[in-house]
Amino acid sequence: MPYPLTLATMLQRNRLLFGKKEVVSRDFSGIHRYTYADYNVRVAKLANALKRLGVRRGERVATFGWNSHRHLEAYFAVPCMGAVLHTLNIRLFEDQFTFIVNHAEDAVMLVDEDLLPAVEALADKFPTVRAFVVMSDKKIVPPTKLSPVYSYEALLDAETGECDWPSLRDENTMAALCYTTATTGNPKGVPYSHRGIYLHALAICSADVLGIREADAVMPVVPMFHVNAWGIPFAAAWMGSKQVFPGARPDAKALLSLIRDEKVTISAGVPTVWMGVLQLMEREKYDVSSLKAIICGGSAAPKALIEKVEKGFGVPFIHAYGMTETYPVVLVSRPKSYMKDLPEDELYACKGKQGTLVPGLEMRVVTEDGAEAPRDGKSMGELRLRGPWITEEYYREPERTRETIRDGWLCTGDVVTVDPEGYVQILDRTRDLIKSGGEWISSIDLENTIMSHPAVAEAAVIGVPSEKWTERPMACVVLKPDFAGKVEGKEILDFLATRVAKWWIPDEVVFVDAIPKTSVGKFAKRFLRDRFKEKLFA
Ligand code: AMP
Repeated sequence: MPYPLTLATMLQRNRLLFGKKEVVSRDFSGIHRYTYADYNVRVAKLANALKRLGVRRGERVATFGWNSHRHLEAYFAVPCMGAVLHTLNIRLFEDQFTFIVNHAEDAVMLVDEDLLPAVEALADKFPTVRAFVVMSDKKIVPPTKLSPVYSYEALLDAETGECDWPSLRDENTMAALCYTTATTGNPKGVPYSHRGIYLHALAICSADVLGIREADAVMPVVPMFHVNAWGIPFAAAWMGSKQVFPGARPDAKALLSLIRDEKVTISAGVPTVWMGVLQLMEREKYDVSSLKAIICGGSAAPKALIEKVEKGFGVPFIHAYGMTETYPVVLVSRPKSYMKDLPEDELYACKGKQGTLVPGLEMRVVTEDGAEAPRDGKSMGELRLRGPWITEEYYREPERTRETIRDGWLCTGDVVTVDPEGYVQILDRTRDLIKSGGEWISSIDLENTIMSHPAVAEAAVIGVPSEKWTERPMACVVLKPDFAGKVEGKEILDFLATRVAKWWIPDEVVFVDAIPKTSVGKFAKRFLRDRFKEKLFA
């Protein structure tokens, strides 16, 4: 049947089958818990309230909030009423924030109570926003200069829990809009269709991808304001999994307490999240025996981290890769059944790669001269993708769409190798690769090796101009607090000498207090490049 693939079907299944299952949130004044039965009533109320605020089909409803049950309510209410869920990144710089709200022409903005100041500071510059709604556990609006402004809870109180959902016949209708944190130029909007979200959710639930099941308690640490928390809230609601939301500014203690208390089975976050969690686990004991998988992506997970998590938590660490343009999951690293008995170092080398292609997608790896790179684990090329959850355009950006989507393929800008088993390794963003004497050096590989040194907390490697070699690597290293001032650059270089090719060894190691991060916790190497732009190696 030509049956439209929409979020309405996903929500309906949740409502009909999983009314008794729980949704738990670390709310502003403590742990909030309710069932999917309550959830569905509130989703209907939210849709009714948004209609009453004048939201029409196709209009953008922005959210500016942490991972919470209210955010999950918006995740379904907004697309199911035919409008577009636009999750705003709460860590954006002011000018990007202003640009995005105006580019998306958001009609209504739902804002978490504690984030009001950031919105108040810029509200005058948001002419399209007709109403602000404060998400809080209180029914009154705190003093604010936002106008007109409403309390989320009071709005829901005034509505019935029955909603006359529109029938969405076109599965290609835009359901969500996510902006990438572009490193050059303004952020780019990626429209997500109902169909794409549906098929992506189906794919990530499958056993060899993220394996999300009814019996799971799923805790996305990856923010709901970044790539829809990797699509996990949609998938988990559809399957009827319990969901656990870590709320505002969760630290390692909060995360470990939630894992222990709510018997979390699957959690997902960027490497820095798990590094912090591991550091606390080394000092304090937490029961994490409920976990069956830690999913980690967004930037390369160092091999040392994977090993420590698997040995410390006793659970599989699943390395994954994706980008905003791909909803996001594209690659997942799970060794095949016949690889389980590989020697430990080979097994971890495989887990350290970003993995094999998720079912449903197609990939090509294209070399500089336009040929397809052989699958030999050495030849490098740009990863190109196509499939039902790969975007075909940037929102209202035809020029930038043409630059990135060529001949029906999304050019990811990620340079990779593929081994004979089909495992893809991300070597670098095109712009981060270091070209030394005509040969490429992968900064990610070097960083991972440096981060396996016991004294190192974090490391970023950048290319510095060189008179002789065009570019040479330089390592910026953050030492763990106990080692600060006690380790010299030479020790790091000696450590590398037995682990990487001689010509890869950085010309210099500089110790820094912190590696600057992007708004979603990735290394922001452009700030390091700016800081060291006067440097020139011989
Ligand atoms: P974003 O669209 O902000 O999520 O960023 C996507 C980019 O993050 C990708 O193009 C990659 O460069 C990088 N990335 C995501 N996951 C990984 C990973 N597991 N390893 C290395 N880089 C990654």
